[in-house]
Amino acid sequence: MDKKQKILIIGAGLSGSLLALRLAKKGYLIDLRESRKDLRITNISAGKSINLAFSDRGIKALALAGIMDQVMKICIPMKGRLIHNLDSSVFFSPYSGRGDKHINSISRGDLNAILMNEAEKLPNLTITFESECKKVNLKKNTAHFYNAKTEITEKVKAAIIFGADGAGSALRKSMFLQREILFSFSQQWLKHGYKELSFPAANNGGFLTEKNALHIWPRGTYMLIALPNIDGTFTVTLFLPHSDAKYSFETLNTSDKVLQFFKEQFPDALEIMPNLVEEFNTNPVGALGTIKCSPYSYKGKTLLIGDAAHAVVPFYGQGMNASFEDVTVLFKYIDKYENKALNNAEIWSKIFYEYEKERKKDADAIGDLAVENYFEMRDHVANDLFKKKRALEMKLEDAYPDRYFSKYSRVTFNDSMPYSVAKKIGNAQDKAFLNLIEDDVINENTSVKELFDKVKQKTDEIIA
Ligand SMILES: Cc1cc2nc3c(=O)[nH]c(=O)nc-3n(C[C@H](O)[C@H](O)[C@H](O)COP(=O)(O)OP(=O)(O)OC[C@H]3O[C@@H](n4cnc5c(N)ncnc54)[C@H](O)[C@@H]3O)c2cc1C
Repeated sequence: MDKKQKILIIGAGLSGSLLALRLAKKGYLIDLRESRKDLRITNISAGKSINLAFSDRGIKALALAGIMDQVMKICIPMKGRLIHNLDSSVFFSPYSGRGDKHINSISRGDLNAILMNEAEKLPNLTITFESECKKVNLKKNTAHFYNAKTEITEKVKAAIIFGADGAGSALRKSMFLQREILFSFSQQWLKHGYKELSFPAANNGGFLTEKNALHIWPRGTYMLIALPNIDGTFTVTLFLPHSDAKYSFETLNTSDKVLQFFKEQFPDALEIMPNLVEEFNTNPVGALGTIKCSPYSYKGKTLLIGDAAHAVVPFYGQGMNASFEDVTVLFKYIDKYENKALNNAEIWSKIFYEYEKERKKDADAIGDLAVENYFEMRDHVANDLFKKKRALEMKLEDAYPDRYFSKYSRVTFNDSMPYSVAKKIGNAQDKAFLNLIEDDVINENTSVKELFDKVKQKTDEIIA
């Protein structure tokens, strides 16, 4: 394949920077464009959430890019969920019965900076900031960029154009609007939005609450979560209905109401939130939605990747991990085809076709799983049936580390299992577990061997 033809990547966020780095390492000529200022030199937020849950699929993708040594240094392990009850008591629910398995809290900005620093070391790659893609002309393979500071519009022609420009993708809009292909698109908003708040660091720079856990205050129709940051602070996220509920972003419209709400619902959190009212009144409310579309590509010339192709709600902590995994899967096909005796257009067509064939069903699956987990986190994690199920599952994972995997483990810790398979088996297994507990066929006195056999048999029956 001719590597001197220009590849344009729109969006230097998480997936765009990783894709650019990996392609440039292979020798391709990369023009990476980002609408925002350079987050490494300006004090801007990296967008969306401040920190993220980073797990095995993401780790695998970054290891393939050769940067995990650096990234490990900014990871804080979270070994499970620390559930905070209304009476301020807590209980810990490990993510896995396998002791060594955990997820990590990571700063979006720091991670993005590592990816960009590594990418910029390569001579065949340039990053242009404050360059916003307005549209892509699919027939001509040109992208139109606008720089708000200079007011200059630029037309960039490239052999291949990747849209890594997030949920509001300009490339995806162009694929939709230009009607060159039958392009399907759906966007499903949740009734809930989110607002980011914080816990400060302790005076000595330490943590005011447990560092190595993802904290959750599940309260039915709303929920608070907190993830640790390296500087001792926590990023706290409130998920709440936008409107049409007793407590909503619409009804919490005075400082007194906000304080009262936290006092009633999250009393132990409130104790360590000196800036609650100020942050609540200042920070924006974000919307949460699932985006699905098809096809991801246009005639072997353009490809949507990451959130641009499949934005998901954050309740499985997988959006970024899935976006990184996109790059892993894409490279499987780049490696397969790049040295074949075909012309460039034929090679990229094959790569995009096979990539999409594999990836679409898995991206759709994680989108569905994330919405399902929203209800689980909000409603079930503190529910007795769920707690019993979780305790029995941990027993099984501990006794059969190579044979039993909960749905959460399949999604989060099993990077060789496609999301669609994790969803199919995981949902059947969950159903089997809950039915068996409700019918009192299994309980805490059941031997692990019997537990394993009964759950497996019931799961197989449900799948059949
Ligand atoms: C509240 C919240 C919490 C989350 N928590 C987690 C989590 O715990 N774990 C997890 O795995 N995922 C999480 N996610 C999902 C995760 O943020 C996304 O899946 C991930 O950021 C996708 O990366 P991306 O690079 O595809 O898109 P983005 O991160 O959106 O990056 C797109 C980039 O393109 C740039 N851009 C946009 N438009 C243009 C344009 N027209 N021209 C040029 N550049 C453009 C943007 O400025 C940005 O830099 C969360 C999301 C939210 C909203």
